Amino acid sequence: MTSLSIPEIDQQAGPPRLRLSYSRLDTYETCPLKYRFGYVDRLPAEPSPELSWGSSIHAALEVWWDQKLPTAPPVEVLLDALYEHWDDSGFATMPREQKVAWYRHAQDVLRRHHARHAPAFVPAVACEQWFEFEIAEGIELVGSIDHVARTPDGGIGIVDWKTNRKAKPRRYVEGSLQLAVYALAAVELWGSEPEWVALDFVVPGVRVTVPRADIDTQAAVATIRSVADEIRAGAFEPRPSRLCGWCDYRGECPAFDGDGPDVPGTALVELQRLRRRQARDQARIAELEALVRDRLGDDALVEVAAD
Ligand code: SF4
Repeated sequence: MTSLSIPEIDQQAGPPRLRLSYSRLDTYETCPLKYRFGYVDRLPAEPSPELSWGSSIHAALEVWWDQKLPTAPPVEVLLDALYEHWDDSGFATMPREQKVAWYRHAQDVLRRHHARHAPAFVPAVACEQWFEFEIAEGIELVGSIDHVARTPDGGIGIVDWKTNRKAKPRRYVEGSLQLAVYALAAVELWGSEPEWVALDFVVPGVRVTVPRADIDTQAAVATIRSVADEIRAGAFEPRPSRLCGWCDYRGECPAFDGDGPDVPGTALVELQRLRRRQARDQARIAELEALVRDRLGDDALVEVAAD
């Protein structure tokens, strides 16, 4: 069992604040120990061709959809943006011919995206729209929405671009925690619900759209609370699955004969941070006490202490 519980120095502060994104939630649900390695211990992850390729496609799509033009920008805008924003980090050790094949594949995907969407192009309300808000006590939800679309009725639709090889079925889209998070974020950002949400699988060229009413945001909030509770409780069990093959932390993972997390090392780092904070707080307390004593006398300080 892998768990870590460090006593809170400030017992009045309530549960520790958590900043969660969809990606963090998804990582925790996939494997709690992977979450711990990545977001608590902050072990470095290797850049991969898939991730670099996906982020290059995202960058090109953002440039194209964000053009505030009455008609669709030409396909060259997409292709130039791909060249401009190509993320080479995941291809560093790859032979040149293979890298070129990935690049050509990205060009083909973007050409097909253009052919599919240019005839009914409407500039995005926003691309990569950042949000952060408190969804429950001490839980801040952060992230960015790939594409906020304008609907014919003047409302908004929300699109997330996916670079998976295959499209997912409608029931997957309806149950998407990510889209539920974005629907909640839309209310925070614009004060109204989206009319629909969609996953656009850009590689096969399939967009699966569902009405907002088919997304269960209450269930999403319950999931987020439950994940937050488990993270705060230090529940970081390994959850082996077929996805372990893509995990950067197999070398450290006890499920693969690794040593597991460096629990004492992480505890020491957090202890140092909390002690520095405590020292800063004590210095400020002394300053404020001196000020109050100077202006109001010692009695005022006795009253504060009694609180
Ligand atoms: S190798 Fe598998 S079980 Fe281990 S941390 Fe990674 S995803 Fe979890």
